[in-house]
Amino acid sequence: MSLAPQSSPLLSKIMSSSIAVANHAGKIIREIMKTGELGIVEKESARDLQTEADRAAQRCIISSLNKCFPKITIIGEEGDEEARDLSGQVYDPSAEMTVEVTCPPQFSSLTEDEIVLWVDPLDGTAEYTQGLLDHVTVLIGIASGGKAVGGVIHQPYYNYQNPGSKLGRTVWGVPGGAVGGMPIVAPPEGRLIVTTTRSHSSSTVNDAISSVSPDDVLRVGGAGHKVMLLLEGKAHVYVFASPGCKKWDTCAPQAVLEAAGGTLTDIKGTAIPYHASAPHRNSSGVLASAAGQNHDAFLEKIPQHVKDNLKA
Ligand code: AMP
Ligand code: MG
Ligand code: MG
Repeated sequence: MSLAPQSSPLLSKIMSSSIAVANHAGKIIREIMKTGELGIVEKESARDLQTEADRAAQRCIISSLNKCFPKITIIGEEGDEEARDLSGQVYDPSAEMTVEVTCPPQFSSLTEDEIVLWVDPLDGTAEYTQGLLDHVTVLIGIASGGKAVGGVIHQPYYNYQNPGSKLGRTVWGVPGGAVGGMPIVAPPEGRLIVTTTRSHSSSTVNDAISSVSPDDVLRVGGAGHKVMLLLEGKAHVYVFASPGCKKWDTCAPQAVLEAAGGTLTDIKGTAIPYHASAPHRNSSGVLASAAGQNHDAFLEKIPQHVKDNLKA
């Protein structure tokens, strides 16, 4: 049953469709893992991998959303080639659009040509290949005017170690509007838990973490997964002083986090731009804090040499 009628604002329709498409991409990711044929290739380095699941999930997401919204610019991590191969991958989300997302008034007249989608079909690929399956997320970020205005994070393997529980979950949010799909929980008071990369560390990354004096550091895969930890109260702040993250890693997580009251900027406190011509790389790193945390206080603690190491 479709809950997004023809007359509903475009952003509501894109959100409902993206939730359904992300869930479908998650099924594709699980199916490919079951075959055991991951088809791993190295991209820029041995730490930067792509699998058949990344490729197939991107083909599905881009071809399906492009069919629904032909004038929207869609930028996917796996490049144009995957986006152009539409063979048998188009999925019609209209039958499974079961989530209705209210659009805040300031976004109600957006048109397709004003929107850019940043798609990471499988965030946490290194962890996917290593069997750390709950680190994997599917990310669809919606941007307009250079800002993240909506986001969907689907975690296809949530609960995979709890047989009998519902497998997978999807959290979504519109800054200034609603957040839904999972309860938002405040992290514990009286201690500081930092989350960061487990597979892309460096001395600069570690210097930034030490500077905020954490009681605990959760080194896990995926930008989507780390922002999930902020949303569910398992960490206070995500610190990543490295140029490795891209716009498709942060757009959806930023939108969901901001909808929940949190903040995501680069490590210098500058807003990350999401217009179609923005460079893909977040060259000044990422700092994201859960709702109720003092984002500026974290930024102030990051040492100047760390900030200087990351170009503007
Ligand atoms: P991580 O926290 O290491 O899982 O990284 C979050 C996202 O940024 C993932 O999509 C990574 O692939 C990407 N990323 C971070 N650092 C690098 C890097 N040095 N090279 C390539 N991708 C990176
Ligand atoms: Mg990623
Ligand atoms: Mg990816």
